Amino acid sequence: MPAQLIDGVQLSKQLRADIAARAATLTQAGHQPGLAVIIVGDDPASHVYVRNKVKACGEVGFHSVLEKYEADFSEQALLDRIAALNEDPAIHGILVQMPLPKHIDSSKVIEAIATAKDVDGYSVLSAGELVANLPGFRPCTPYGCMKLIESTGYDLRGKHAVVIGRSNTVGKPMALLLLQANATVTICHSATPDLGYHTRQADVIVAAVGRRNTVTADMVKPGAIVIDVGMNRDDAGKLCGDVDFAGVSDVASHVTPVPGGVGPMTITMLLMNTVESAERVLGKKQERPGQAAGMIPTPGVA
Ligand code: NAP
Repeated sequence: MPAQLIDGVQLSKQLRADIAARAATLTQAGHQPGLAVIIVGDDPASHVYVRNKVKACGEVGFHSVLEKYEADFSEQALLDRIAALNEDPAIHGILVQMPLPKHIDSSKVIEAIATAKDVDGYSVLSAGELVANLPGFRPCTPYGCMKLIESTGYDLRGKHAVVIGRSNTVGKPMALLLLQANATVTICHSATPDLGYHTRQADVIVAAVGRRNTVTADMVKPGAIVIDVGMNRDDAGKLCGDVDFAGVSDVASHVTPVPGGVGPMTITMLLMNTVESAERVLGKKQERPGQAAGMIPTPGVA
């Protein structure tokens, strides 16, 4: 039987409807969620990404600010803008679009964002919260992958998950989220000698490599769930993932398509983190002592 498609577009729609309802409640309380997006330079793909993020904010009723700067914008000027947004009560999330021009130290910029507004979850403190299993903002792409797995009704407890890729933004946080959901996790990377040896034992495979056909049908255990994070181009220039979708669909129980799988979920989880940030601030304002108001539950943990 061919694998069931895990439809990221459909799941995003459902989640965004819920986010919009939460935003409306916050707005009624005089506390509209706000996201600031900063882009430096003229990379066309990055401009498309930020436009999509700002558009998505409008669709769920957020206030959003898009700050565009020329490629020669100084590092100090950028840090000053972040400091101002950190203090701005109308802004609950700050996102600086990567990559930044070479003269700007991106780690310095990420660390300048207040942890309470780090809705990308990229800072060292946010990463530490994830490692320590504390509430905090989870990086949007792996957080979205967890929601996709969750949408199948699959219980990760005691299952074997193999993550291919160990970047700070996708692979590593993905592995930690799966671990928190009580999976047994293997992380593979470019120095892993026999990738198929590991993937064939996996109940869940998450491919986050950036190389097409990294996961083929012979590398997948029958009935496994396969999540494809990769974004590549095939010979015809068409968008494709890391997984041989047609072949793997004959073996897996569930698979995400590219496009229409992980991609739409990334922006959705950015919106989710932002609404949660706004709820957290309102919760604190309303001073509910002893209650972790608006704190973000650890995804996947019962
Ligand atoms: P990255 O920083 O380049 O990391 C790629 C990872 O893949 C590295 O850990 C690398 O290992 C590993 N790798 C490379 N070749 C391998 C091989 N032959 N076998 C096993 N592992 C291998 O990329 P990323 O930022 O994590 O992104 C990964 C992919 O996801 C890209 O295609 C990116 O465009 C896509 N992406 C999609 C979304 C979305 O919203 N859909 C969001 C983020 C990223 P080493 O560490 O040893 O080098």
